[in-house]
Amino acid sequence: MSTRIDSVTFLRPERSTLNIDPRDAKKLLDKYDGDLPENCFLRELEDKINSQTKEKVKCACGTTSYGNAKFCRECGAKVVKKSVAGLEINCLDWHDDDSGYDETAANTFFPIFVNKVVPLLRGQAEGSVTYGEVNDDGEDINNYKTSHFIISDGQLVWCEIQLHPGADAPVFTPNDEYEESDDDEDEDEEDDDR
Ligand SMILES: [Zn+2]
Repeated sequence: MSTRIDSVTFLRPERSTLNIDPRDAKKLLDKYDGDLPENCFLRELEDKINSQTKEKVKCACGTTSYGNAKFCRECGAKVVKKSVAGLEINCLDWHDDDSGYDETAANTFFPIFVNKVVPLLRGQAEGSVTYGEVNDDGEDINNYKTSHFIISDGQLVWCEIQLHPGADAPVFTPNDEYEESDDDEDEDEEDDDR
């Protein structure tokens, strides 16, 4: 028996301020690329990382060098690094392909996600990991459990959620398109004809 991760998600994505320096994200991807699970939020940042870390920087002499250059390729002066805006993290995906028999996400959750990725994350977010047991046949996840955590400036703290009665129920606004659709509309037209 082993463990497989079903999902890792934000609890309240609208309140997340989680972000990462694109240079840190690139280092993580370069180092762990082959080890990461099939669905991994770091991979989703890849396009943005490439565009930001390849940005050129201009020296006082007027020569432009690549963003990762330490010295100007023309005059040799030290290149002043621009401070780079953090890349916003929009999801916390860290799970394997649904159809697969893979347990990479669970096997890398502590060694890579918690120990290597989280320390480089800035800002705050609340998240959860849902996981379960897989039998030797590896087919289905059983005995689902969910654990909750807060990530705050590079630290992950496990949390317990306590619910208290007394909150307002949510209000759902009906979708107009749905009201007008299909069968109802046909019936209305028949009624009009009579
Ligand atoms: Zn120069």
